[in-house]
Amino acid sequence: MARKQKQRNFMDILKNLEIIQNQINLACTKSNRNPNEVKLLLATKTVSAERIKIALNAGYTLIAENRVQELKEKYNDLKDTPHTNHFIGHLQTNKIKDILKCDVSCVESLDRYELAEKLHQRLSSENKTIEVFIQVNTSGEESKFGVHPDNAIDLVKKVSQLNTLKIKGLMTIGLFSSDVDKVRKCFRLLKQFQQEIASLQLPNVEVNELSMGMSGDLEIAIEEGATIVRVGTAIFGERIYPDSFYWNENKNNA
Ligand SMILES: *Cc1c(COP(=O)(O)O)cnc(C)c1O
Repeated sequence: MARKQKQRNFMDILKNLEIIQNQINLACTKSNRNPNEVKLLLATKTVSAERIKIALNAGYTLIAENRVQELKEKYNDLKDTPHTNHFIGHLQTNKIKDILKCDVSCVESLDRYELAEKLHQRLSSENKTIEVFIQVNTSGEESKFGVHPDNAIDLVKKVSQLNTLKIKGLMTIGLFSSDVDKVRKCFRLLKQFQQEIASLQLPNVEVNELSMGMSGDLEIAIEEGATIVRVGTAIFGERIYPDSFYWNENKNNA
């Protein structure tokens, strides 16, 4: 019985991956984009290594955690299955060495200069570089992390001077709302930043990637130019913790 249940859960993951990929393809067709331009990133918070491997073995190899603790817990179980690790959660500076040990190749949630400086110090001493995205709080919701839009360009300029950090893109979490226009506005704002930053032609800065769109709003994000959509629930099922557990300004938690 338990085993049957498990097999069914694994089947669900494969079926859901197919559904999401179709959704991505459709959104691309609708907006005259090539589906190859949009990568599916698996947001794996609360998902067991065993279940993550189902997706990795099916060829979906871009994954991301929100919490360093979970990243560390799953690291050994996943390290022999090829994949790329991004980090998408609020990162405390005292956890930097842990994410480097766990082979995170890109921090999508760089949202303050203090974090950039500490990353740079550590990377310099280890003779390493890392990719980063600047996370922008496009929704203005206080409950979400990310640099305030007014300060985003300034942060990019400052980070660009740290030569161990390779700025590759921007990340945002859209407004949680059933009002499509309001959600779309968040993604448009990120796209505008991308264009503005590109026009500055800063050395050491490429902003080709736009990481935006999740289970509930990935189609809108693709229409507005997303190159990475981050999907959890629609693939792995509902989580026990609400997202506020991960996103709250309640820094004691994060
Ligand atoms: C959890 C999470 C996602 C995925 O959210 P779903 O709604 O489960 O698809 C995407 N981005 C971030 C930053 C997350 O924390």
